[in-house]
Amino acid sequence: MADPEAKVAENVEGEFYVDEECIACGLCVDEAPENFAMTDSEDFAYVKKQPENEEEREQCQEALESCPVDAIGDDG
Ligand code: SF4
Repeated sequence: MADPEAKVAENVEGEFYVDEECIACGLCVDEAPENFAMTDSEDFAYVKKQPENEEEREQCQEALESCPVDAIGDDG
């Protein structure tokens, strides 16, 4: 379960977020490339854009479920 109190600062505002437990595996960027990105230094991932349609929402949900350390949260 991701911690809404430990969101990384790079996330855009909104329902999906990445927290500080991220281990930078890159899976969420593969699952939802429109919505997740790695930082330039590739230290961790963050939400660059909230989902804007059903396809993106499903991809974000897939990313959330695939994250090996449960670092992705959904406040929606
Ligand atoms: S899937 Fe989880 S651990 Fe991997 S980069 Fe994304 S948020 Fe980080």
